[in-house]
Amino acid sequence: TVRVRFAPSPTGMFHVGGARSALQNWIYARQQGGVFVLRIEDTDAARNKPEWTEGILSALDWIGIERGSYEGPYFQSSYAGEHRDAARRLYEAGRAYYCDCTREAVQARTGNQYTGYDGHCRDRALPPGDGRALRFRTPDEGATVVTDLIRGEPTFENKLIEDFVIARGDGSPVFLLANVVDDMTMGITHVIRAEEHLPNTPKQQLLWDALGVKPPIWAHVPVVVNEKRQKLSKRRDKVALEAYRDEGYLASAMRNYLMLLGWAPSGDREIVPWSVIEEEFRLAEVNPSPAFFDEKKLRAFNGEYIRALPVAEFIEACQPWLTGTGAIAPPPWQPAEFDPAVFASVAPLAQTRIAVLSEIVPNVDFLFVDSPLIDEAAWTKAMKEGSAELLDAAIAAFEAVESWDAETLKATLEAVGAERGLKLGKAQAPVRVAVTGRTVGLPLFESLEVLGRERALTRMRAARV
Ligand code: GLU
Repeated sequence: TVRVRFAPSPTGMFHVGGARSALQNWIYARQQGGVFVLRIEDTDAARNKPEWTEGILSALDWIGIERGSYEGPYFQSSYAGEHRDAARRLYEAGRAYYCDCTREAVQARTGNQYTGYDGHCRDRALPPGDGRALRFRTPDEGATVVTDLIRGEPTFENKLIEDFVIARGDGSPVFLLANVVDDMTMGITHVIRAEEHLPNTPKQQLLWDALGVKPPIWAHVPVVVNEKRQKLSKRRDKVALEAYRDEGYLASAMRNYLMLLGWAPSGDREIVPWSVIEEEFRLAEVNPSPAFFDEKKLRAFNGEYIRALPVAEFIEACQPWLTGTGAIAPPPWQPAEFDPAVFASVAPLAQTRIAVLSEIVPNVDFLFVDSPLIDEAAWTKAMKEGSAELLDAAIAAFEAVESWDAETLKATLEAVGAERGLKLGKAQAPVRVAVTGRTVGLPLFESLEVLGRERALTRMRAARV
């Protein structure tokens, strides 16, 4: 049976590129009736932190790869015995040798430029010893051909592959070896991973051969780049899956978008149910060139997914940003008095206007505070010449309306504006700022209706002192 694995290193926030590879592995396993294995490569003690591991597990959960539905997590650190054992076997079989060269010494020999190891210790037959690294003896002739589902048969001349280190001077195995040994131990048949690892692949395949196990089929999925065609980096770009989650991206939108990096479903569609992706995705169809992670497009996707939610689900999804209790991220603003019924009455209006869930806050906060936080810039913008006078007239007219409903209020303000030669849009501006604190937001008259006569008028009067 097909066995794939996702093998992240817990050295930082979980990267969107990692999430993309995880999903591709996940789908491939399901399509093949195979097994998805999760392995945490936690051997870099200096950079690992348990919270990064927890972050990976919960981010995978969020994106739909749920705990309990896969094999593992295994931890690379538990297999140290296997790694050392493999290193010893390679040494005993003459496939690896000890080396005491420093980088400086190699550099001095190769004309002050490090162009790879020069093979100095190949035939010195040094015994193991403290500070001696173990190097794999790569073949001098022939080529290593890897089978890659996305890239065909990348071929590497063996004579260009240096004798690489498999265990450090202190005996600890390096990534190249540990990763291979774990894949062997776990019976991995297909390695689907980021393109960044392609240069490692011929070396690793040589290790599979030397250890006498049939190498896996590989698939190197394209590197993810920003709008400047630079590889996404955590210093430059927003790459943490958690950051998107905490901002209010929906997992459904996110995973749909991630699968479009280098691939598309049939029929010019982009937004499709997950079941369609699971059915139609083909690793072999993935475009090998760099995939542009377009945050704007993701945002637009998310807006569409938000609009497609049943209102009740939308209301539910907004809760972490509104109530703060059990919030994914503490909201920047805490409602003075959150009223679920009031929120429910404006939710459909808000649902069509926001692209990420966190934007719910500036849209509805005015409903739950005693007096709105008036944005200075908004105030100056709205309170032009004549605005004070217009507000006075609007207050008087609103005080007189019989029924406090959106339609009546609109007609009333329209009339007030018309008397001053103002279009409705212009007449609305000062009223909106007085009542909501902002120049943009939910439709004004519905907002006034929900806010209620007393509160609305109090705010308008307060704006006049
Ligand atoms: N731990 C490696 C990484 O995070 C895994 C590489 C692989 O998938 O083989 O990049």
